[in-house]
Parts: sequence; C-alpha cells; structure tokens
Amino acid sequence: MTITPDQQLIIAVDGHSSSGKSTFARAIARELGYLYIDSGAMYRAVTLFAIENGMISNEEPDEGALIEALDRIHIRFEKNADGTQHTLLNGRDVEKEIRDMQVSELVSPVSRIREVRRKMVELQRKLGKKGGIVMDGRDIGTTVFPRADIKIFLTSEPETRAKRRYRELQEKGIKTDYRNVLKNINERDRIDQSREESPLKMAPDAILLDNSHMTPEEQMEWFRKLLKKKYHADRH
Ligand code: C5P
Repeated sequence: MTITPDQQLIIAVDGHSSSGKSTFARAIARELGYLYIDSGAMYRAVTLFAIENGMISNEEPDEGALIEALDRIHIRFEKNADGTQHTLLNGRDVEKEIRDMQVSELVSPVSRIREVRRKMVELQRKLGKKGGIVMDGRDIGTTVFPRADIKIFLTSEPETRAKRRYRELQEKGIKTDYRNVLKNINERDRIDQSREESPLKMAPDAILLDNSHMTPEEQMEWFRKLLKKKYHADRH
C-alpha cells in the first residue's frame, strides 16, 4: 500500500529535541521510497570530531580551532545490509558514538557556530537537490529548504519526549539517568531556539503536529491524509 505522488517532493520535518522526528521522517521516506537524511546526525558528527580533537574546554567549543578544521571534516551516510542508515565521519562509522550523552550535551553549543551551520546547510542542500527526500532537523523548513513542498513541525510535551529518549538510549545500551535526559532536551531546545543563526522555529507555512498522544501508525495516517489533501494522491 503506497502513495505515489509523481513529483520528487522535498519534505521537511522540524521540531523540538526528541519529538520523534527521525522515526516519523524515516517512516515517511520508507512509504514514499524517498531518501531520508538526519541532519542532526551531521551536527553530532562535527561535535564528536571537536571532542576527539581536543577542541572542547569547560563545556564550550574552541570556535577558532573548529572553524579552521572544518575542511578536514567529511560527513556522509551509508546504508548497512539491514537497511539502517549510518553516519560516517571521515570514513569511520560513528552512528553509536554520536548518540551518547557527552555528544548530546555539547551539540547545541557547536551547532550555534555560524560557519559550522553554513557548511552543514550546504551539504544538506546538495543531498536534497534532486528532491525525493525527507530531511529532519531544526531549520530545514526555514533555512535549508525554504521552498520545501511539505513542512511539518513536530512537537510533544517535554516529559513525553524525555521518556521516549530515555527508552531509546536504554535500547541502544547507553547508560544514563532520566533526569539528565530531561534536562538535556530542555537545555538543547533553549539554546537551539535562542541562537542567532537559523534558530529552531516553526516556518510560517509549516503544519504543526503535536504527537504527545499519537502512536507512530497514527502519525502516518495523519500524514497520508495530508498528502491526499494536498496532492489528491491515492492509496494503491
Ligand atoms: O536531531 P538531533 O536531536 O539529533 O539534533 C542534535 C542537535 O543538533 C540539536 O539539538 C541542534 O542543536 C542541532 N541541530 C541543528 N540543526 C539541525 C539539526 C540539528 O542545529 N538542522
């Protein structure tokens, strides 16, 4: 059962930390046969690079050193045999490392750096230039693809988001404490919303979806209705 609009659409899924963007965006991409890009993974990979290269002190990135090193940071995605997407930093699979709490705690200060953002946005635009893509992040509908065909802004209650994130980390075998997770997502939202360069905000033409009380399947049903309304796409 698939929906097949004839255009290769660009679909932007933005929203708060741990609002379920990647699960939703991945499901949309699977249903439409599109490419899925997790833009947060790119900022996380840059953060991991900064940590591994001694560019963090007192919880703050050394901006000058990181900006100078940007040309040495190469990020790409690769699909594993099981179909899951992995993030590669300079050829190394860092999918697991970029999800740990140390990276989560430092990623928002790193993402605030204008030059880092410019480089990531350029890469994201290249990946999406042919369309047929679902990209999730914070500024996809506002900055990366301001003319995206569909823009969704996802949110849910902070407690729901923290619980989800905590469960996800546990499933991945990453040890942490629930209070830390809640604190981290609130702190990331605060920094992401208040930064100068492309802050997290809802694009005026985005559609808001609060998924606090929705299952992944209910979210997909919502999306199918949206697509049908917009493109009269039929389910086959
Ligand atoms: O999506 P995820 O939670 O993995 O993103 C990690 C962090 O990367 C965010 O908290 C934000 O600081 C940054 N980010 C961003 N712009 C994006 C995607 C992520 O600034 N488009």
